[in-house]
Order: sequence, then structure tokens, then C-alpha cells
Amino acid sequence: MRPFEYASPDTPEQAVVLLSKTWGNTEVLAGGTDLLALMKDDIVQPRRLINLKRIPALSGVTSTPQGLRIGALTTLGDLADNVNVAKDYPALSEALNEAASPQIRNLATLGGNLCQRPRCWYFRGGLGLLPRDERGKDLVSAGDNRYHAILGNDGPAKFVSPSSVAPVLIAYSAKLRLMSAKGKREIPLEKFFVIPRAEGQREHDLQPNEIVTEVLLPSSQGMKVVHYEIRQKQAFDWPLAVAAVSLRMDGSTVKSARVALGYVAPVPWVSSEAERALVGKDISEPVATSAADAALRHATPLSHNAYKIQLARVALKRAIMKAASGGTA
Ligand SMILES: Cc1cc2nc3c(=O)[nH]c(=O)nc-3n(C[C@H](O)[C@H](O)[C@H](O)COP(=O)(O)OP(=O)(O)OC[C@H]3O[C@@H](n4cnc5c(N)ncnc54)[C@H](O)[C@@H]3O)c2cc1C
Repeated sequence: MRPFEYASPDTPEQAVVLLSKTWGNTEVLAGGTDLLALMKDDIVQPRRLINLKRIPALSGVTSTPQGLRIGALTTLGDLADNVNVAKDYPALSEALNEAASPQIRNLATLGGNLCQRPRCWYFRGGLGLLPRDERGKDLVSAGDNRYHAILGNDGPAKFVSPSSVAPVLIAYSAKLRLMSAKGKREIPLEKFFVIPRAEGQREHDLQPNEIVTEVLLPSSQGMKVVHYEIRQKQAFDWPLAVAAVSLRMDGSTVKSARVALGYVAPVPWVSSEAERALVGKDISEPVATSAADAALRHATPLSHNAYKIQLARVALKRAIMKAASGGTA
């Protein structure tokens, strides 16, 4: 590993002034389960690390009149075990318990989970986020793309967004609070994820001198939320497809719906097509099937990943059926 400066501030205010205005010079360290691997593999080479773990204000879960405030440094394990999360956001608890392994969940933080870098093997192999050969030819389309994107892949980005927790947080309408030396801002979680169009751009709406301080969850009252994932094996690895669905019902009819898919696109994929196919309907198997078909209708598989269309379709259909039969909230 290359040498680097190490700073361990006590407050978020101290942390943000230590960050650089350009990517590459400084990185924020949370649990380190992703960042340290990237540094050891020489994929990122920060000159300074800003450790957030000594900042008490960034940890913990608080109930507020609006819902729940989760400090970005809260570990996935602590969050999964939190009684308020288990009671009011059970689909989130479920997603957290399925992520990685107990050892990793004890270290990995929620902020780090949302900011973790893609698992694309070209990126992890040092070929960049939008890997190209010396003649500018896209390496992923021509290469081994079995785990890559089937939606939102019309630009140079073909990787999939790596957080299995983000889709269910989006289904719960989570917001992120970010902080820089200039102040704080709040954004809906789905807007935090962006598809980079040029090498050097990041996959998050995060400035190099900004940190995620909190995840804000509105009340889940009246929502039926389900997280459903498909994995190649029941061991610590990332899923192949995730579907998260949130329904608000008026009797047996869907009043509003939120649908987010994971591992299909460079961002957690919010499907307005599926949402439209659900609103105003009584859920039945044909309705769930047509919503799932609508979500995947415009999928554009690469040479080796057409199988993911069916996986995502099945995950979504099952999530809708489960939500309609009571959900987990
Ligand atoms: C074997 C294995 C299996 C895994 N399986 C899954 C899985 O099934 N689902 C899943 O979702 N994840 C999975 N993961 C990924 C794991 O969840 C992430 O590595 C972890 O959540 C990252 O959190 P961290 O606190 O360790 O972040 P770090 O490694 O410290 O940081 C990760 C990135 O986020 C940035 N960052 C961290 N915190 C902040 C902040 N507050 N503000 C701004 N930037 C920040 C860092 O600068 C860095 O770029 C797996 C990991 C491993 C090793």
C-alpha cells in the first residue's frame, strides 16, 4: 500500500475541512471494508485518509416525529438489530441481514454501503469505471459482462450499482443528508446515484469535499414494503438481482407504488413503468406479471447477461405478490 496521511477528526465540521476539492487526493474512511481493499489493490491512491469512526455525532439511530434518522457511521449489523428498524422497517432489516456476512456487517457502515464502489471486475482490475482499450473500444461489451447492466447501459457505464440495501431504502423513500464546509443539503436517495458519462466522473452525487452524514427515513405507516433478492449462492457475495417494492393501498387497490431494482443498472433502477402498471389495480398474478414485464421491457442485455432479465422479472413479480399479501410493514 502507498503511504498516506491519516487524520481522525472528532466532529463532522473538522472532517469536511480536511477534504480536498478534487477527487484522488483525499478519501473518507468508514468501516474500511471496501476502501482498504481498493487501496491495497492500488485502484485508489489517496494522499490523505479522513477517518470518520471517531465522530460520535455520525453514529446511531434516532426516532423523530418524521420517522427515523440513521447516522451514516451506523454499522449494518447495529442497524439490522435496531428494534425500531425491525418493527417499523422490517424489509430494511431483512435486506441488511442478507448483505455480506456477520463479520463484514459488524464493520461496514450504512454510509459506506451507499458509497461503496462498483464490483465490476474491469474497474477492480485497474481499467477504470468506463473501461476502454487503447483504440477507445468498450471492453465490457466485447468482454465478460455476465454480471453487468441490462438497463441504463446505453452510455459508456456498464457496471451495476453494488448496494443491495439501496433499493429497499428507495422503496421507503429515504433521503440523504450531505455536508461540506459550505453547509448541508438533503437529496432523495435515488438522486444520489448517477450514471457517469466520462472517466473521472463518479457514480454518486457526492463532491470530493462532502460527506454523507445521515439517512432519513419517513414514517412507514400505511406502506407495505418488500425486499426480494436472488443470489447465486447463500454465502457472502453480492446478489444477481434485487427488487424492492412499496405499496400504499386504498382497500384492495394500489393507491401508489414505488419500485426499485438492484444489480440491473449503474444506478438502483426506479421503474416508473412498473409503478404505472400497479397504480389503480387490485394485485393479482397477471397484474404483478405485467408490472414486471413493463419494468424489463426496455432492457438491453449485453452478450452474456440476458439471463438477468428473467431473474429481475421474477424477483419483481415475487416482491409485488408478497407486498400485496401483507408485505413486511
Ligand atoms: C465479501 C463481501 C460481501 C459483500 N456483500 C454485500 C452485499 O451482499 N450487499 C451489499 O450491499 N454490500 C456487500 N458488500 C459490501 C459492503 O457492504 C461494503 O463494503 C460496506 O458497506 C462499505 O462500508 P464501509 O463502512 O466499510 O465503507 P468504506 O470501505 O470505509 O468506504 C467505502 C467507500 O465509501 C466512502 N464513504 C464511506 N463512508 C462515507 C461517508 N459517510 N460519506 C462519504 N463517503 C463515504 C469511502 O470513501 C469509500 O469510497 C460486501 C463486501 C464484502 C467484502
